[in-house]
Amino acid sequence: MCIFCKIVNHEIPSNRVLENEHFVAFHDVNPIAPIHLLIIPKLHVEKFQDVTPKMMADMTSFIQEVAIKMGLDKNGYRLVTNNGEDGGQEVDHLHFHLLGGTRLKWTHLGGNDAKSSM
Ligand code: AMP
Repeated sequence: MCIFCKIVNHEIPSNRVLENEHFVAFHDVNPIAPIHLLIIPKLHVEKFQDVTPKMMADMTSFIQEVAIKMGLDKNGYRLVTNNGEDGGQEVDHLHFHLLGGTRLKWTHLGGNDAKSSM
């Protein structure tokens, strides 16, 4: 079974910051920024290419709520989803990376660009 489904079902632990009926936000186990959360739907959707507009609409509100809760709404943050193999997706359960807490750099392929400014 999918690792993020196990997090949803409390079969493996996670450090949750917000949850509602449809979505969960928790800390990434391997953060690349001072604040690095993952935001996932409870329903198993494999990747962004498969998500419905309705789910994205609901998820948008949830992500905005998480950003406010983490105090990121004023100074900003980065929201990223890796879609499929070329996109660098390692966990096949749709997730958004919410990164913030510092002035993030931007590089083309470097996955750890935020690390240097931690
Ligand atoms: P991606 O490459 O976009 O699929 O990212 C997967 C992310 O999931 C990585 O940043 C991992 O550090 C993170 N991750 C994997 N397993 C866990 C876990 N059990 N709890 C929290 N984060 C995880």
